[in-house]
Amino acid sequence: MALCLTPLFSGSSGNAILVSSQRSKVLIDAGVSGRKLEEALHSIGETVDDIKGILITHEHSDHIQGVGILSRRYNIPVDATAPTWEAACDKLGSVRSMLARVIGKEPFYIDDLLIEPFEIPHDAADPVGYCVTSGHSRLAVATDLGCFPQEVERRLHACDLVLLESNHDLEMLIAGRYPYELKQRIRSRRGHLSNDDAAEAAVRLAYAGVSSILLGHLSRENNSEHLAFRTVTDALLANGITPGRDISLGLAFRDRVTGRFQIR
Ligand SMILES: [Zn+2]
Ligand SMILES: [Zn+2]
Repeated sequence: MALCLTPLFSGSSGNAILVSSQRSKVLIDAGVSGRKLEEALHSIGETVDDIKGILITHEHSDHIQGVGILSRRYNIPVDATAPTWEAACDKLGSVRSMLARVIGKEPFYIDDLLIEPFEIPHDAADPVGYCVTSGHSRLAVATDLGCFPQEVERRLHACDLVLLESNHDLEMLIAGRYPYELKQRIRSRRGHLSNDDAAEAAVRLAYAGVSSILLGHLSRENNSEHLAFRTVTDALLANGITPGRDISLGLAFRDRVTGRFQIR
């Protein structure tokens, strides 16, 4: 059964990733306004009514801004870990108690989708990435992580498609206008992956048999699509991996719907 990933928004101004099988659809994060999400889904022939659940990665507002409104308006269940619920509750507004589901790190099902949360290193209460499996197809969303530890790498090994953070170009970040503390936070092991970090991770994932990588959560201020793509492409080529032949490499756009990526 085909599994699809459609990045609706990906970046520090908002994240929402649609994951769908033939039977069910879920959103991983809903970090833009309810209206923007409705419009984005509409533009690709989808409606919010069909969304079976919203999986929250962590409580930063670029991941949860539209969660409360969508859940209340369309009666959509929301899944998050207990510390994330606690940290997010002020920003979410009320989510009806019957729709607020507390998850752990154990796998669970939403219809035919097997959802596996996994811990990621990021400066939030209890941040997670998600692997989603349907039939023999498996994908993962791994953004907002300050480093790429082995435990995360191992989770992604068996995936056909990984949405991987490529947040910033280190030189642009250092030379840029962010305050010193914010630069340090972004660079820390609980911050965000740089293009060089993403390149190293992409090489490891390619060697592990991952067939498609999408770079996402690009910083508007400290990165460009060209730079992220070139940095990762160069690293793959330097390691004997040719994008387009050995692995498919793409980008998730910040402010507009990226195409639908289908796994068979
Ligand atoms: Zn984020
Ligand atoms: Zn974050």
